Amino acid sequence: MEVPFHRPDITDEEIEAVARTLRSGWLTMGPETFRFEKELAGYLGADHAVCLSSGTAALHLALICAGIGPGDQVIMPAVTFVSTAEAVRYLGAEPVLADVEYDTHCLDVQDLRKRITKRTRAIIPVHFGGHPADMDPLLDLAREHELAVIEDAAHALPSKYKGRYCGTLGDAGCFSFYATKTLTTGEGGMIITGRQDWADRARSLRLHGISRDAWNRYGKGGSWRYDVHETGYKYNMTDMQAALGRGQLSRLDDMHGKRREIARAYTEAFEPLPGLVPFREREGCRSSWHLYPLKIDGEDEGVRDDMMDILSKKGISTSLHFIPLHHFSGYRDLDTGDLPVSEKVFRQNLSLPINSKMVEDDISFVKNEVIQAAREVLK
Ligand SMILES: *Cc1c(COP(=O)(O)O)cnc(C)c1O
Repeated sequence: MEVPFHRPDITDEEIEAVARTLRSGWLTMGPETFRFEKELAGYLGADHAVCLSSGTAALHLALICAGIGPGDQVIMPAVTFVSTAEAVRYLGAEPVLADVEYDTHCLDVQDLRKRITKRTRAIIPVHFGGHPADMDPLLDLAREHELAVIEDAAHALPSKYKGRYCGTLGDAGCFSFYATKTLTTGEGGMIITGRQDWADRARSLRLHGISRDAWNRYGKGGSWRYDVHETGYKYNMTDMQAALGRGQLSRLDDMHGKRREIARAYTEAFEPLPGLVPFREREGCRSSWHLYPLKIDGEDEGVRDDMMDILSKKGISTSLHFIPLHHFSGYRDLDTGDLPVSEKVFRQNLSLPINSKMVEDDISFVKNEVIQAAREVLK
């Protein structure tokens, strides 16, 4: 039996919707993208959704909207994908790494507080694997120090923090629709924001800084005349992607239900085993379960590696989220101080397959093989 780490969940209707767009005569950003934005904002109960070419582009433009520039510091967890830091570096600003909570791998607000300096301008909490960061104390701290909060919500559709959708809690939320994420457009991303000025700026920046009203200059009544008010980027979504995304959004709650079931089955199976540390949802919060992270208690990372090897030989692909940023040669120059919990979760963590294409047999197979592998490596 083979259980791949991820299988995209795409229906024939979604394929047909993309084909319709291809036949429609309009391929790039246009009516489908604008409909998708409206539906996304509606789903999340947010004022503005701005669809983009990637989650990285979303982080980049949100940081521009926050006014981040050379010399500024932006605090983020050490345990995240490299996009979070790279978007900060695009602007000549400095990523500052903070430690994470053992249970959720999300920013530890106590440690974050210690890393605030006169140069700190923003915080990027990452909702790790879909588990919400502890936003209430984080937002209090941000208010106290007048810092922008840009949520890296790449994993967090549809996660909720105390009844509200992740991505709608800070100044902006940045989502990714990359192939492996909980809603995919192949590649894609978006900014969610309640701020009209940020939404307007992001809309202009995603298309070369061209004035808003001139986008549709090829349409009926369009004019050749347009202005460019600042240096922008080529970060727009296409209508082919949006057509796929609209189908995905209509099934998001179903797909999420499936992920929850798998997470529950895994946790029930692993919780009683000494040495295994499954994730639990934070009180009052709901995870998207983009990832199913499992930790193996102990100081020796060889145990985790052995576990991944055994599972791989049985046909189960696992992954690791994430190599902490300061471990990369391109980020070793960061002055990080101690990050003991980030190091510990890096030694202990692996991610099991979890996606809406998994069937009952896949789930039992993974459960049983993990239990057996754990017995072997922990004896
Ligand atoms: C996937 C991801 C991103 C970036 O998304 P892309 O769409 O691939 O650019 C950002 N942050 C995190 C935590 C991610 O996992």
